[in-house]
Amino acid sequence: MSVYGGSLYAAQADVPARPPLTVEADVDVCVIGGGLAGLTTARELARRGWSVVVLEAKRIAWNASGRNTGMVIPGFAADEQAIVERVGSEHARALWALSEQGAEYVRTTIRETNMPGADLVESGWLQVSKQDNDAAVERAAAYLAREFGAEVEYWPTGRVRAALRSPRYFSALHFPKAFSINPLAYAQGLAVAAEAMGVRIFENTPALDIDPAGVRKRITTPQARVRAGQVVFAGGTHIGPLMPKLAATLVPVSSYVIATAPLGDALREAIGFGGSVSDSALFDNHYRVVNGDRLLWAGRCTLWEGDPARFTKSLLRDICRTFPQLRDVKAEYSWTGTLGNTVHLMPQIGETMPGVWLVSGFNGHGLNTTAMAGEIVARAITDDDPRWRLFSPFELVWAGGTLGKATVQAFYYASRTREKIDGALSRRREAEKRKKEGLPPLEVPAPSMAPVEAAPSEPVVEEKPKKRSRKKKAEVAADATPSPTLPDASQ
Ligand SMILES: Cc1cc2nc3c(=O)[nH]c(=O)nc-3n(C[C@H](O)[C@H](O)[C@H](O)COP(=O)(O)OP(=O)(O)OC[C@H]3O[C@@H](n4cnc5c(N)ncnc54)[C@H](O)[C@@H]3O)c2cc1C
Repeated sequence: MSVYGGSLYAAQADVPARPPLTVEADVDVCVIGGGLAGLTTARELARRGWSVVVLEAKRIAWNASGRNTGMVIPGFAADEQAIVERVGSEHARALWALSEQGAEYVRTTIRETNMPGADLVESGWLQVSKQDNDAAVERAAAYLAREFGAEVEYWPTGRVRAALRSPRYFSALHFPKAFSINPLAYAQGLAVAAEAMGVRIFENTPALDIDPAGVRKRITTPQARVRAGQVVFAGGTHIGPLMPKLAATLVPVSSYVIATAPLGDALREAIGFGGSVSDSALFDNHYRVVNGDRLLWAGRCTLWEGDPARFTKSLLRDICRTFPQLRDVKAEYSWTGTLGNTVHLMPQIGETMPGVWLVSGFNGHGLNTTAMAGEIVARAITDDDPRWRLFSPFELVWAGGTLGKATVQAFYYASRTREKIDGALSRRREAEKRKKEGLPPLEVPAPSMAPVEAAPSEPVVEEKPKKRSRKKKAEVAADATPSPTLPDASQ
């Protein structure tokens, strides 16, 4: 299997290999890391006439950037209200606007370069609630529109169920400007666009050592050295061997994705929505229809990189629980990717010492935010653009080492259980209400295909973390909410 893993994207995108660095280089900027953050920064620097090399330890976008769910949505992993509480309304609004600009950057780049294989699908994003809390969801839509100027609609339960034929679903937020892409093809297109501006990208070239002092920084790689006026760290969770202290500010979270075999009419009967869907504030149940009749479905999280094949059944059960009519779907592709979670769930963007920049920590929300970060850091370097300072309140925070990892995992398990209970209670309340009103029980769509054994109520997980005391779980859980979340706009 290639370094890109067993993903559908790897099967469909053409990413030619680039050579390693073998001769000394002397440039304006050295970007370390060839994921989306590094590639965007490099392209934007070169666009302004600066000489740039990108050093990539393996292949461009081999990790999170080329393996994600492909949903380009506004905002950040952090809950909007948490951002407002930390920086105030006006500042939070400016951050939201930047997050939208990041998404626009991706859209524009794909369109302008007529990018092959990027598979731009402009059909929005539904953030669905599995609880009977329509009024709260409606208030959340109003809050986002009022406080952030977000383009968002409230979809009542009936409209959601007409689009997604799942008895588990109630109302939703609809973000009409969100879109989806093939992220690996996008990364390759971005690399080509950067190279067209003069960027030189070297693969299989890990930065092994750096001397950041002085006007010219020195970066050592296995075969040659780079001298650069400025350095941009864009290594994500894999920066550890080079910068252990920086890596310690990220919790590496692996999440799992499958793409089903083509499902034909069965899929069209179940899902009448062409955009992306998330029905959980956790890592579970983020999905979209790809290639017309395959279902791409992401879920689960581990603090170690598990074998994706061991999560396939569990993800298929999630599909079956959500859409009972898709009972005997089969997975044709399964893969995993690792993202870097920050404690505050906001990206790490800024200048850490003169001439040394950081674009990192994009959590599960990196498609829009890597684009935004690349653009604003490039402009900061070339034009002293001050917008990166909007991220200064979100400093580098130690992620808690092993305890931090265990706590994130424990929080995930606990929150998943809570979500399940809340969903079950909502469905029971709805059933009782219908009974009282003399209505028939809610129709559970009949399977369009041959039924298989009923799914067990609990999914199989590969391994459980060591048990921690409740107190310790609670200590960090408050900070560990993954994205995306419905704001509780109760005010
Ligand atoms: C399963 C999954 C689903 C996701 N779904 C979505 C989604 O739908 N929407 C969304 O917005 N976000 C999503 N994300 C998050 C998003 O993919 C990431 O936030 C984003 O790709 C991070 O990009 P990056 O460039 O910072 O990191 P990476 O993609 O990890 O790239 C960093 C690169 O730096 C290189 N590197 C590290 N150290 C060195 C070194 N010393 N020398 C040279 N190179 C080095 C690495 O090899 C790597 O290629 C998802 C992530 C995962 C894992």
